Amino acid sequence: LVERLRPYSASVFEEISRLATAHDAVDLGQGFPDYEGPAAMLELARAAISGGMNHYSSSKGQAALREAIVAERAARLGCRYDAADEVLVTAGATEALTAAMLALVEPGADVVLIEPYYDSYAAAVAMAGAIPRTVAMVPDGDGFTLDLDELHRAITPRTRLLVVNSPHNPTGSLLRPADLRLIAELARAHDFLIVSDEVYEHLVFDTPHLSIATLPGMRERTVVVSSPAKTFHVTGWRIGWALGPTALIHAIHAAKQYLSFVSPAPFQPAVAHALLHEQHWAATNRAALRRKHDLLATALTALGLPVKRSAGGYFVCADVGSDGTAFCRTLPARAGVAAIPVAALAARPHWNTLVRFAYCKRDDTLHEAIARLAESL
Ligand code: PMP
Ligand code: GLN
Repeated sequence: LVERLRPYSASVFEEISRLATAHDAVDLGQGFPDYEGPAAMLELARAAISGGMNHYSSSKGQAALREAIVAERAARLGCRYDAADEVLVTAGATEALTAAMLALVEPGADVVLIEPYYDSYAAAVAMAGAIPRTVAMVPDGDGFTLDLDELHRAITPRTRLLVVNSPHNPTGSLLRPADLRLIAELARAHDFLIVSDEVYEHLVFDTPHLSIATLPGMRERTVVVSSPAKTFHVTGWRIGWALGPTALIHAIHAAKQYLSFVSPAPFQPAVAHALLHEQHWAATNRAALRRKHDLLATALTALGLPVKRSAGGYFVCADVGSDGTAFCRTLPARAGVAAIPVAALAARPHWNTLVRFAYCKRDDTLHEAIARLAESL
């Protein structure tokens, strides 16, 4: 393995999922739901496969899906993108993030990440040969907030791109509107790009989702990345997308062509359907996720693992008061439960005692996990 990828040889999700399987643990680690998305969406995927949609299709994504992505976004957030040139369907949000990094960042340039982060960001920066600079999410009241001093210090003349992620994985926090406005102001003043990872955009409990791309002067310098994986419970379908001005999308498409060439064909009509016709399912599920968050957060706190409450997404972070990595490595054997150490999603040690639990699970799964934790902690 080349040196720049050595720190990324085994992802934390691989490691913890393996331990979860080995110990038959209730898996609150990797963020995937254990109940299915809307039935009509699943049926459309089956029909597409039976109907022969099993081959290469447009490398930019099928037109019906590109049109659904822009129509849904325009209806919800009021921002308009051209389905022909300003949207690219990718193999999951993960490919959109990596392709954006490869296509937009020169080796040696600085990329600013908000830490802790979804682990693929740092790996993508390494693949591009770029230099990561991180800004911390710090505890603040009942949640986390951006360290604004660090944000100012992280921006240099070499800054090419900053990755925003709100709702945030792993903390479940939203970036405050004022902080998004500050990031936007810095991006305009220092002329850098934004990649805005909005995969949890439909899973915000109380406040409407705010995309940095909708702030003044930001549409032209922002690539929005999103995915149906979390909203519609299809993490294995590997569909995602990037939205942005034509020049940036064309650049990302250049990289995408040589990563996956095309995205999975038979799932694209099903995702288009879900975006246009399953928002009621998504809203009902959002209410369920909020209830599941409260159930797990309350139980963890009662078990002596105090949590910072989440404002959206799939995860809640608890402070285990000791080394979180050791805690998570032994938890499957000790308690029959799996969770993710936040330290694995950060370069610095500040979050070492935090452990991320996924609540995107059936109620019986959550109750079983809570019972097992209660017995062994
Ligand atoms: N970004 C964030 C913040 C995520 O949590 C995830 C999934 N864990 C992704 C991107 C990747 O999404 P996808 O499965 O669509 O590649
Ligand atoms: N995005 C999911 C998470 O954060 C898992 C992604 C993965 O396994 N790479 O849990």
